Amino acid sequence: MESELVKIDHLSFSYHNLNGETKALDDLTFSVKEGEFLAIVGPSGCGKSTILSLIAGLLQAEEGGITFYGKNGKKPGIGYMLQHDHLFEWRSIWQNVTLGLEIQHKLTEENKRKVEKMLDDYGLAGFAQKRPSELSGGMKQRAALIRTMALEPEILLLDEPFCALDYQTRLTVSADIARIIKSAGKTVILITHDLSEAVSLADRILVLTQRPAHIKAEFHIHLTLPDDSLLAARKAPEYAKYFNQIWEELSDENH
Ligand code: ADP
Ligand code: MG
Repeated sequence: MESELVKIDHLSFSYHNLNGETKALDDLTFSVKEGEFLAIVGPSGCGKSTILSLIAGLLQAEEGGITFYGKNGKKPGIGYMLQHDHLFEWRSIWQNVTLGLEIQHKLTEENKRKVEKMLDDYGLAGFAQKRPSELSGGMKQRAALIRTMALEPEILLLDEPFCALDYQTRLTVSADIARIIKSAGKTVILITHDLSEAVSLADRILVLTQRPAHIKAEFHIHLTLPDDSLLAARKAPEYAKYFNQIWEELSDENH
């Protein structure tokens, strides 16, 4: 986890519409290393989702740029998972998780086997022929993750992915999903409102200011863990210190 994979360099972006201009990002600079789990927190409306959309290429930077350092000079594959799972009700779970592969004409026998294995690993093996509405919130979130992972992205962009889940489910699903992602060695940028989620999952946390967002503080997270379960992270001796420091940076911004 040493080399830089994405570099965001003096990035600025504004939305333009009939009411005028909304400056969402102003001169934002940071980078993400290969294999790193980066969390971004900041006040609501400060520009977090905009950052991910720019990295995903859905929006174009106005000033500054985004550079990727993928293998062999290629742009790394990007998986973007949004707050709401957007599984299609008229398709079965199998048809949902293979949707990306189908669109990209990559639904080969080999890839089908990989998806089957993921369904199995994520506890969804018996649900392939069900409809999304027959699954719990946590299961739907795992299905959405499989759909994203099926395309084997090197970078995962997660925009408040656990937001729609109730607290209890959220704890288990986020720990669950983080374990899956970490064991796959992916590079992750996670946007979250939930500080405890950020502290327990991330290697590093960026705190953003109010809009237009720039970086207010940066924390490198090192937790002493009795085991590698992420629920244990909340019991680590350093946990409360990070939580309080980040909380203060954020409350400062909210006033
Ligand atoms: P966050 O994800 O941090 O809540 P966003 O990146 O979604 O914030 O939005 C940043 C700012 O840009 C907000 O003030 C929002 O209202 C504004 N904004 C977002 N999308 C659009 C859009 N399509 N048109 C105009 N303004 C937008
Ligand atoms: Mg957002």
